[in-house]
Amino acid sequence: MDKAAEDELCDVSSPRCLVTKAASWRHYLHRHPELAYEEHQTSDFVASQLGSFGLEVHRRLADTGVVGVLKRGTSKRAIGIRADMDALPLEERSGTAHSSCTTGIMHACGHDGHTTMLLAAAKACAELDDMDGTVHFIFQPAEEGAGGGERMVQEGLFKRFPCDFVFGLHNWPALPLGTCLALDGPIMGAVGKFEIAITGKGCHGAFPHEGQDVLLAASHVHIALQSIISRSLDARKAAVVSVTQIEAGNSWNVMPTRCVLRGTARWLDEDTGKLIEARVREIAAAAAATFACQARVSYERATPATINDPAAAAMIREVARSIGVRIVDASPTLGAEDFAFMLQACSGAYVLLGSGRSGNEPGLHSPYYDFNDDLLPVGIQLWVALVRHCLGKSSDD
Ligand SMILES: [Zn+2]
Ligand SMILES: [Zn+2]
Repeated sequence: MDKAAEDELCDVSSPRCLVTKAASWRHYLHRHPELAYEEHQTSDFVASQLGSFGLEVHRRLADTGVVGVLKRGTSKRAIGIRADMDALPLEERSGTAHSSCTTGIMHACGHDGHTTMLLAAAKACAELDDMDGTVHFIFQPAEEGAGGGERMVQEGLFKRFPCDFVFGLHNWPALPLGTCLALDGPIMGAVGKFEIAITGKGCHGAFPHEGQDVLLAASHVHIALQSIISRSLDARKAAVVSVTQIEAGNSWNVMPTRCVLRGTARWLDEDTGKLIEARVREIAAAAAATFACQARVSYERATPATINDPAAAAMIREVARSIGVRIVDASPTLGAEDFAFMLQACSGAYVLLGSGRSGNEPGLHSPYYDFNDDLLPVGIQLWVALVRHCLGKSSDD
């Protein structure tokens, strides 16, 4: 971001520069990480800060979720901005002075930074005098696979706090600092989880002709699943099928009666999602039958793709450019994000903000990862500029 924008950010809060204050909040949150739905201390911290800025504070959506409401003027315009608060079950090895104080839990995905940037933006916005409308600052629990975003929506997030648009971001180490990826349409992948249980008649390892070999059947299923992407899917589409667990047997001379394969699939568009599920089921049944075994398939669509509304994505690109952030072009990632559930319920956009990992520096979910504090002013300014853009007195009603 440019120097003028950074100076402006420092002006909106006195006596201390907001960025310096934000860094201290971020280090506090980093020292006290909490897992999904256990973000009690984080939630208390967020709620008390929002209250101290003069915002209306609502708690207990999805247990530990917090919504801060900032309303100014008479306009009915409203936007939501969301940050995630949860950490991961990892033992931190970053060696920083603000390392986790909790054994086995750390902020390895930078959600401490997301929460901090949104809090600081709420403080800056509370001091704006040219705003007409409502901002809902949404702090969600349990983003890391535990469905906090989905629960907030189910518990009436957008009914209680209606928004014209909702926005979210993730720090992204692979993109250079000061850059932003804000795609129209899909930006992150949908998630399928599957379990294939192959059963057959077990027998002595020396007499395989007396039974059915579930391990041989499972090996063929595993290999055949890899043909879904390479042979069933149009080569121009992006998708992944990964077997991540195989469990069978407990002896070296007994052929087991059951082998279980588990894994995940990722895709961007609905037709691809349907194709993958259909092929997983067909391949499992047919490959198992080849070896006279049976296959039972459980397949769950866990998270939808994160799909940006083109108008909201264009808006955030314009705002990002206005504060000196460079818009980059890249393919969507097949990682998943439960902000997808919010985007199913409300138009909006999710963006990846470059945090500038160089070479072999650790990435997200590494025990060595630490959110880059140089990103704080960029993210704070992005949210403040977005609020001004959407709800400024001079912007259209
Ligand atoms: Zn993560
Ligand atoms: Zn994350």
